[in-house]
Amino acid sequence: MKSSIYLFAAAFAVTVAPVAAQTPDFSKVEIKSETLGPGVAVLFGAGGNIGVSHGPDGTVLIDDQFAPLTDKIAKAVADLGGTPVKYLVNTHWHFDHSGGNENLGKAGATIFAHDNVRVRLAAGQNLLGNAVPPASAAALPVVTYAEGLTFHLNGDDIDAVFTGGGHTDGDTVLYWRKANVLHTGDLMMTEAPFPFVDTESGGNAVRLVASLDKVLAMTNAQTKIIPGHGPVTDRAGMQAWRDRIARAVETVRAAKGSGKTLDTFLAANPFKPMDREGAFVNSEGFARAIWASLDAEAHGHGHQH
Ligand SMILES: [Zn+2]
Repeated sequence: MKSSIYLFAAAFAVTVAPVAAQTPDFSKVEIKSETLGPGVAVLFGAGGNIGVSHGPDGTVLIDDQFAPLTDKIAKAVADLGGTPVKYLVNTHWHFDHSGGNENLGKAGATIFAHDNVRVRLAAGQNLLGNAVPPASAAALPVVTYAEGLTFHLNGDDIDAVFTGGGHTDGDTVLYWRKANVLHTGDLMMTEAPFPFVDTESGGNAVRLVASLDKVLAMTNAQTKIIPGHGPVTDRAGMQAWRDRIARAVETVRAAKGSGKTLDTFLAANPFKPMDREGAFVNSEGFARAIWASLDAEAHGHGHQH
């Protein structure tokens, strides 16, 4: 089990690079923390960024990276002054965000996620050509929701909201109302030229843009935004990310509308200049994902809930 996850992580790293840059020798990974408000922090390590709420009512973790990092993450939480994790929220099922579930579940944390996260974790998945085995019972969310829920603790109200997905079909964003901090999950990645639209997991580029519009509406100019990967950003950063994706979707839509095939579109791929060495997703992967997303919308498979 353990070795298959490692193997899978290695295979994944070949195709998608932030993981490639980070994966590997977990013994060398350092967990760094950045405080974003009283009792609110983000942890950076390997895999998805972790949001933390800590205080008198207990520790809430947003995502948990990889299983071999659980002890280091626990130490980072303790260093912030936090108690052991009481509640855990998965922003989506991808293993670089939920890999610590089994450890934390066994240690007594209650795991929360969108309905589809539990379904996908329980069933096992395919991700970029790799088979991910079904998660163990201890790793599964025990509280699931279709729309969202709110945590009232540590002097704040933290909304967990499903805005319609787009990266997958189970993306949750978290918003601290008082601290004015937002965790986007992988709806956004800073320092990435393209989003990852995981069409195999119900992701859809059209819905991603719609989701980002809803998330933007939850923010103001002072909101601190924790992306799924990369450094903390703000609303202007998210607006630019959203606009770039929206323009790309319209470019592909226009090409399809004019009768182009995917092959002819890719032959003169207009996104190519945005390619970046070592990026998570390249211009061709992005174009293919948008194409598939528009096909799915056209065939009425766009809304699966
Ligand atoms: Zn992801």
